[in-house]
Amino acid sequence: MKQNYAIIGLGRFGGSICQTLVDSGQEVLAIDNNEERANEYMNVATHVVVGNAQDEMTLRSLGIRNFDQVIVAIGEDIQASILVTLMVKEMGVPSILAKAQNEYHARVLEKIGADRVVHPERDMGARIAHQMVSSNILDYIELSEEFSLAEIRVKNKKFFNKNLLEMDFRQRFGLTVVAIRRHNGEVVASPAAEEIVHENDHLLVIGNTDEVDLLDEKLNE
Ligand code: ATP
Repeated sequence: MKQNYAIIGLGRFGGSICQTLVDSGQEVLAIDNNEERANEYMNVATHVVVGNAQDEMTLRSLGIRNFDQVIVAIGEDIQASILVTLMVKEMGVPSILAKAQNEYHARVLEKIGADRVVHPERDMGARIAHQMVSSNILDYIELSEEFSLAEIRVKNKKFFNKNLLEMDFRQRFGLTVVAIRRHNGEVVASPAAEEIVHENDHLLVIGNTDEVDLLDEKLNE
């Protein structure tokens, strides 16, 4: 579905979101108060504006309230990030994603109504550390404090060519398999218990973070 996005701040984070959204065919308005930064995105974003997003008139004149999603990608200037998020919220934007610099910043952003708060450095660090310490986990995403999603490749031969029921997946690991990606790229979404797991298949599993953390050890048993 095509949506209208506004990105405030074209640092590495905002800039990367901008490029990826445009590549996937979305309309993007990009705003940065640094003219040089803004110029770098002239040929990328649908519209680029040089302006201070802390200025309410600037946000109003750009019609920010009409956007489906606003991404507040200002990091270093925490006060600006909070003020801009608050103004965008008050304008009634249905979905706001904001980048936090630290835990306190994140808590404030959540309190004032950001719908999603991300900490790119912390989240990416956790993701990479999980991949490094486990031989089966290919990717890992923390969905909330309680739940995580992991992509695994089963390397233990004893699980090859068994179905999910025979693997006793839910009981043994306390996790739910939401999809299987076959070696040939075919994806089986919401697999039935009878679905067979082959060597080199990837399983996308979801469940309690504590269980996901134990998964690698249990798969190697
Ligand atoms: P990243 O890690 O994504 O590179 P960062 O955390 O270092 O970014 P900043 O460099 O502080 O964050 O901000 C990102 C961008 O936001 C910069 O290009 C900066 O010019 C822009 N920016 C900061 N404040 C404002 C503002 N009030 N209005 C518009 N743009 C702003």
